[in-house]
Amino acid sequence: MTTADVVIIGGGIVGSSVAYHLAERGCTNVLIVEREDRQGMGSTAKSMGGVRAQFATPINIRMSLYSIDLFSRFEEVTGHTAGYKAQGYLFVATNQRHLDYLEANYRQQRACGVNNVEMVTREDIVKTVPQLVADDIVGGSFCPTDGFVDPYSVMTGFSKRARERGVKLWLETDVTGIDVKQGQVAGVQTSRGYVSTRAVVNAAGPWAASVAELAGLELPVEPLRRQIVKTEPFSELSPRLPMVIDMSTGFHFRPEGSAFLLAWPDPEETHGFRTDFDYGFIEKILTRAVSRVPEFADVEVNPRRCWAGMYEMTPDHHAIIGRAPGVEGMFLANGFSGHGVMHSPATGKIVSELIVDGASSFADAPALRVERFKEGNLLEETAVL
Ligand SMILES: Cc1cc2nc3c(=O)[nH]c(=O)nc-3n(C[C@H](O)[C@H](O)[C@H](O)COP(=O)(O)OP(=O)(O)OC[C@H]3O[C@@H](n4cnc5c(N)ncnc54)[C@H](O)[C@@H]3O)c2cc1C
Repeated sequence: MTTADVVIIGGGIVGSSVAYHLAERGCTNVLIVEREDRQGMGSTAKSMGGVRAQFATPINIRMSLYSIDLFSRFEEVTGHTAGYKAQGYLFVATNQRHLDYLEANYRQQRACGVNNVEMVTREDIVKTVPQLVADDIVGGSFCPTDGFVDPYSVMTGFSKRARERGVKLWLETDVTGIDVKQGQVAGVQTSRGYVSTRAVVNAAGPWAASVAELAGLELPVEPLRRQIVKTEPFSELSPRLPMVIDMSTGFHFRPEGSAFLLAWPDPEETHGFRTDFDYGFIEKILTRAVSRVPEFADVEVNPRRCWAGMYEMTPDHHAIIGRAPGVEGMFLANGFSGHGVMHSPATGKIVSELIVDGASSFADAPALRVERFKEGNLLEETAVL
């Protein structure tokens, strides 16, 4: 029989970060169990790779600060690249309500230590992106250390470094049961056999609720399809642009090499396991794109280079991180609601500290406990893209 100090269910970016952070603390008798034949086949490889500190709540802002700092030092710390590009996030408001909202967030971000976030004028915005239709723009906010990473590289970096330190990874292995004895995790049943352990981390991405169920827990995490349109190489806009968010429609875009990634939260999507790309989405998004950036009328799109994946949504759009109530030894790292790549470093840090030290050095971390839903202490993150 195999024995591990910690079993991590799911080998995506979150499971890999937890493994890395545990290994850094000297906890290396760790096993990652991943059911696919490669890592990153869940949400991780589908991500747009955006990272930002421009959030509304202190916990999200602080998680971003830790994470962005780690991305900026990733190679030095892990020996692998994160592909971090500090090109910024530019939020563009077209009405006073949105501008007031950005202003309130800006104050919160500054109070939390984001020293370089700025409110910007229409003139500043046009200087940054001259191609924007600007008549209705009333202002915005910009943070230069926001930007993008390569999610696959980050996951690989975390995972490789953890394995260099002794962490084991089982691929093509399904976790089919969590053995709980007298309220304490005793082991995990897998398609490769039983693993005896007293600590399990649920890092199963969109499948988190079904993994929680294996331990008799109810987890309010639901998958929601999100689609990305990748353009063909397009030279009308600069490859140095930030992520640009048109708050009037939710349409946002960023450069990716010589091409652009276009995204838009389609309000018609409903919860469910769907990863098929809907060709009709291209027209829907290009309508929004062209209304803000007329140059996009000439862009070419090959539908085969577009894709869809799943967000893991919670009712208040915040992650669920912490101990599972009633099941000693079970830890949750779920429900990132579109922010799992950018918050993977902080999540690994919090979960590893809970396991090794019994408490996290993130003072706000208890706010992310799953009990908040039953207690009515919901956090509201409105800056969801
Ligand atoms: C289109 C799109 C764009 C996005 N853009 C961004 C962005 O710009 N910035 C950002 O921060 N986030 C973004 N996200 C969200 C981000 O991708 C996710 O939050 C993140 O990847 C979650 O990582 P994870 O490791 O928790 O989940 P996953 O990568 O899904 O990994 C979970 C793993 O668990 C495995 N698993 C599940 N059940 C079992 C089982 N029973 N046994 C064994 N293994 C199991 C799965 O096979 C999977 O590999 C985006 C997501 C999508 C879909």
